[in-house]
Amino acid sequence: MPNLLITLTQALRQLPGIGSKSAQRMAYRLLLHKRAQAAQLAQALTDALAGVGQCTACRDLSETPVCVLCANNQRDASLLCIVESPLDIIAFEQTASYNGMYFVLHGQLSPLDGVGPKELGLPLLVQRLSEGLIQEVIIATSPTMEGEATAYYIQQLTDAAGLQSTRLAQGVPLGGSLELLDGATLAQALMNRR
Ligand SMILES: [Zn+2]
Repeated sequence: MPNLLITLTQALRQLPGIGSKSAQRMAYRLLLHKRAQAAQLAQALTDALAGVGQCTACRDLSETPVCVLCANNQRDASLLCIVESPLDIIAFEQTASYNGMYFVLHGQLSPLDGVGPKELGLPLLVQRLSEGLIQEVIIATSPTMEGEATAYYIQQLTDAAGLQSTRLAQGVPLGGSLELLDGATLAQALMNRR
């Protein structure tokens, strides 16, 4: 295999879910049959890398130093929802039932993988909590062990800032059948009944 082809294959292997066989197939296909699309992809990637960075307020991807959502003064700046991924913001926005601000962690606390408070942008979060605008923090981390540990850590920060923090409710999904629920979810739903 030519060296440049090996380099391309290795680069494609870095993509999530792509093994060495798939990477080889993709490289050959791009260079043999999809040259125009390959050039388009390379250009789009170069442009995005140069033009897209992180919002200095919420850490979501943005073309401007402060993203469109953070700059929107129609939104409720007293509410801050903390999410693990920018995709979570899209999910919340699609519900059309939240009009506050966001903060993106880009992960969960995982000391063994080298992901600590700094990697999750928590110093920036502490700074935002101290600015006096935010009244309530909604911690919307995943209901997994790492997500819970992350939520607990953030709760300490909101407590220290003297702010109210809430978690998303957990329990029975809409349209779901009780008999199909796992025990932990059902127990959680029973505990959080209202
Ligand atoms: Zn933002």
